[in-house]
This record gives sequence, C-alpha cells and structure tokens, in this order.
Amino acid sequence: MRTELEKIVGGAALDERPIRDLWPLAIMEERAGSPPPRVLVARPSGREQVVAILRWAGANGVAVTPMGGATGVCGALSPRAGELVLDMSSFDRILEVDEMNLTCRCESGVNGLVLEKHLNERGLTLGHFPSSLPGTTVGGLISTRSSGQESSRYGSVEDMVLGLAVVLPDGTFAAPRPGPRSAIGPALHQLWLGSEGALGVVLGAVLRVHRLPESVVGRGYGFPDLATGLEAMRAIMQSGMRPLVMRLYDAEDTAFNGYDLAIGGCLLVVANAGVAAVARAEADAVRGFAAAAGDLGEDPWLRWQRHRFDLSAERLKSFLEPPGSYLDTIELAGPWTVLQELHTRVKSAIAVGGLALCHFSHAYEQGCCAYFTFGGSGDTEQDARSAYMRAWEGAMSTALELGATISHHHGVGRVRARWVADEMGGWMRVWRSIKESIDPQGVMNPRAVGGAP
Ligand SMILES: Cc1cc2nc3c(=O)[nH]c(=O)nc-3n(C[C@H](O)[C@H](O)[C@H](O)COP(=O)(O)OP(=O)(O)OC[C@H]3O[C@@H](n4cnc5c(N)ncnc54)[C@H](O)[C@@H]3O)c2cc1C
Repeated sequence: MRTELEKIVGGAALDERPIRDLWPLAIMEERAGSPPPRVLVARPSGREQVVAILRWAGANGVAVTPMGGATGVCGALSPRAGELVLDMSSFDRILEVDEMNLTCRCESGVNGLVLEKHLNERGLTLGHFPSSLPGTTVGGLISTRSSGQESSRYGSVEDMVLGLAVVLPDGTFAAPRPGPRSAIGPALHQLWLGSEGALGVVLGAVLRVHRLPESVVGRGYGFPDLATGLEAMRAIMQSGMRPLVMRLYDAEDTAFNGYDLAIGGCLLVVANAGVAAVARAEADAVRGFAAAAGDLGEDPWLRWQRHRFDLSAERLKSFLEPPGSYLDTIELAGPWTVLQELHTRVKSAIAVGGLALCHFSHAYEQGCCAYFTFGGSGDTEQDARSAYMRAWEGAMSTALELGATISHHHGVGRVRARWVADEMGGWMRVWRSIKESIDPQGVMNPRAVGGAP
C-alpha cells in the first residue's frame, strides 16, 4: 500500500501513526492501555492526487477517512488498522474574498481561526465560532454540520455554505454551482454537511460572509429559575430579534462559572449587534423581556468574551489525564415545549459521577439546544467506562422519548452510531441508498453516520 501511495503523493507526504479525534472514550481507552492502531496517513496536494488516491482505494478495497483538525468529539475519525487517512492540511489556501458579493472561496484544510482573522482584517466575519475554532478546518466544520457561539445571528454551517467542491469516491469532481440560490434541482451539496467523510472528500467551499457589526451591546441577567430564563429566551427569539450571543446557564452551571446568584438562580448572557442605534435599541428591548431577572450589567458579557474559547482541546485532554476520570458533553435540541423536561431528565441521567451541568444556546424561534456537561471518576477504568456509557444511554433514550434530536452539532461518529436509526427512522433508508449509490464499494469512512459497526 505504501509503495503504491508513494507513487501518487511522494514519500515525504506519507507517514504512519495512530490517529483518533478527541472523542473522550477514545482518550480514556488510550489512557487505559488501548491506543488507536497505527495507520498510513497520506497528505495529498492538489485535486489530481485526491482523485488518484480515491481511485486506487476503490480498486483495492482500502477504506479512506479524510482528516481535518481532528478536533471532533464523537469518534468520527476512528480509522482501523489497514485503512488510510487523508490529511487535508495542504489544502490551506484562501482563494478569494469577494467584498462586493460577500463571499469567500477557500480550500477545505484552511484553519477556522485563520480564516476568521483573514476576514476580520477586511471588516468581515464568517460568524462561525465553535469553541474549538482554533483547531478546526473548514472541511471538518462542514462535514460535522457544526454550529458556533453566534449561531442565533449567523446560523450554523449549513447557512454559510453556498457551494462545495468535492471529489466523489470514483474520482468524479463536482464544482460549486452558481449562487446565491438555485432552483435547478435540490441543493445536493447539502448532503455533504454532516456526512462525516462518508460521501467523498471536500476540497473547498464557497462561503457566505458578513460585514462585522458596527456595534455590540452585551449584558447579563440573573433569573430566579430556569423556567423564567427559558421563557425570556423564547420571547426574545420569537420577537424577531437575532442576538449575536444568547446563553442561559442552569443553576449548577451558573455556580460553576463563578456567579453567586440566589439559590436556583440562572445566568443569561445576551449580546445584540448591528449598526449602533439598532444594537442599542435591541439591547433595551431585551431588558424588557428580562423583566423577571436582576440586571447584572455588562460584566457577565465581558467575562464570557474573555473565556469563550477556554474549553480547548488541551484542557479537555488534561481533564481526562487522571486514571478513572471521565468527562464529556452532550448537545441535544428540542422544541421549547420539551426543554424543561429534557433538562430535568437528562440532568438526572448524566449525574452518575457528580458533575452535571447544562446551558442553553443556539436558540431558534422553534426551540433551542440544551448543552450538557458531565463527568466524574471511577475506581477502575472499567467503572469509569460503565458510568460514562450509562450517562450516554440515559441522555440518548430521554431525547428520543421526548422527540428531541440526539445531536444539535457534534454529529454522530462512533458515540451515537447505535441510536442514529432510532432518530432517522425511514430516512435511514434514504441515507443508506445515497451512501451505497455514491460509494458502492464502501470506501469512504465506512463507520460514519451509523454505518458499519
Ligand atoms: C473543546 C472543543 C469544543 C468544541 N466546540 C464545538 C462547538 O462549539 N460547535 C461544534 O459544532 N463543534 C464543536 N466541537 C467539535 C469539533 O471541533 C467540530 O466537530 C469540528 O467541526 C471538527 O472539525 P475538524 O477540522 O477538527 O474535523 P475532524 O475532527 O478532523 O473531522 C471530523 C469529521 O469530518 C470529516 N472530514 C474532515 N475533513 C474533511 C474533508 N475535507 N472532506 C470530507 N470529510 C472531512 C472527517 O472524516 C470526520 O468524519 C468542539 C470540540 C472540542 C474539542
């Protein structure tokens, strides 16, 4: 395999090493003495090399998984021995920023933070801020169907992608189609958003960008309980405002963040953006919707901004260093009518080890994401693993029972594979048919989105 690939990419673009993403269970397994297998990693440069690799892989039945920044947290990047990983880091060019039409054309290996800074220097923003932004790539953000901290204003990645350049498993190249919108059949590129590398390799994207807002006005509010906080969030979204940031922390998460509110008190951080007069007027309107709360002033917003990228990959790994420890996050989403029950039941399901927190962010007129963090430690690695799995099982079955989605933005990977069909129902047949027709040999990331076990 190595000799064949050397002919395509050259020896310097090939190496062999263990590959995994930041799925906490994979980190825990490694800690317990089961590291991921060593696999061959090829770093292609240029479309022709990707095409040649995929044709070679199809002819030889070798599974291929594309790799971006490897910051995924679900195990979507879990190659097995004998498989091949495509490191997309050479596709790192920002090809064009069109300041008239507010679009950006870039390759898929471009780092998320590098892209954002490049746009900021031109007074623009993509508006996509996952907490992991500094480690991500455009291809990974697209393939996981990611969502960022400013999604209530700018949307999630599916709202940002105008077109995609992809190589299909048989080597066919599909270029971005004309925009800003088209009725020439379905928007087929959307199939790639969330496909976790199962349908081919994303080479590049045309992205919608925005002018940086002239002004941002942010404040914090202390609500007496979760119910009144959620009501305020719903009223704000349903009023038609699109806050830049809006996050409600439950009582435990509020205390964890260092706020000393009354017992049961929940912190809401809201920021409005736009031309100065609009941002100010919207911030005033938000104060009206937060009448049940104490006004905590600007400080919580400033503090949130300072710490918005604190949960880094390094921090996650350091939490998981002590033997027997476990920590993970589960992001569900549901209509406003189920959020309170979802919160109560999932909190109790994940509280197996002590730490159980939740905040609500990524709000819509129809509902919101509930983002849970849980952790603890077991006497043995096996205890830790069992507690970890119990928490996941409780959260997944509760979400399914209440009609919530089992993932708002982290995706499927290995951790959610066994529940995908439960959520998708008849759509699973549609997904399988698409996968089989585009990738009949099952070469591309065979375990993605509830694929092979
Ligand atoms: C601390 C922390 C915080 C996080 N916060 C957020 C958050 O706020 N919001 C959020 O949505 N996610 C978050 N994540 C999850 C993660 O960062 C995202 O899923 C991100 O989109 C992954 O990008 P990546 O480049 O690292 O992709 P990778 O992990 O390398 O890959 C992810 C998947 O995409 C596929 N893929 C990658 N590149 C390509 C390509 N070019 N073509 C085809 N398939 C490809 C891979 O095969 C894999 O299946 C967080 C993770 C961490 C560790």
